[in-house]
Amino acid sequence: MKTVLWQELRRNEFEDALKADAVIIIPVASTEQHGRHLPVNTDANCCFTIAVRAAEAIEEFPVLVLPTIWTGYSPHHMPHPGTITLKYHTFVELLTQVAVSVHAHGFHKILFLNGHGGNSAVVDAMRTKLAAEERISVVGYTYWDLPSVPEEWKRISRSDKGFVGHAAEIETSMQLYLQPDLVDMGAAVWVPGVFGDPSTATREKGERLHKAAVSALVSLLRDYHSGRLEDSLVWRKEIL
Ligand SMILES: [Zn+2]
Repeated sequence: MKTVLWQELRRNEFEDALKADAVIIIPVASTEQHGRHLPVNTDANCCFTIAVRAAEAIEEFPVLVLPTIWTGYSPHHMPHPGTITLKYHTFVELLTQVAVSVHAHGFHKILFLNGHGGNSAVVDAMRTKLAAEERISVVGYTYWDLPSVPEEWKRISRSDKGFVGHAAEIETSMQLYLQPDLVDMGAAVWVPGVFGDPSTATREKGERLHKAAVSALVSLLRDYHSGRLEDSLVWRKEIL
């Protein structure tokens, strides 16, 4: 299978990807506590695997996935061990410089795919910042806010307690699907730093949630490549 991983390409292969009008995904995640039952790479693992599987599913144009930005904005998780956070402006600058570097090589379709709630506001704002200050057009989405995902997730993940959050049912289910050896379901309880009930998680639910996110991302990538997505973002045309 063709590789979709940016870090595995040789330099001439980037020229080929450029000629084929590749879309570039920059996964943005975190390294942070996820209760006593999930590993600290949960957000990075969910986000990266969704990006890679969507990229692999697209045949008609290349999609390349950068190495995950593994640390983000997580000051609210610092009371618990294992969390690594950046300061706000460091994080903004990191995202800026990575996107500027990708753009400098000629790529003009750049998507930030975020996997951590604490990063969402920053990733959303990068569209305006990069357009206004760097003359670069990007789009940014948090994977659970991709068009078509929320409805599917509401249907699948409704728990008895009616609430799904950090390290709870959704993330725990996806981790049971993606890296079950790192999950301790005996410790999957609602404790400080967990927001919701992880005990209702199952591997099967995780597989369905993950596949729903991958297919939503595939649709978005096609819309982005064809120009349909940016056509709908009228305000950016006024800046760039
Ligand atoms: Zn998480």
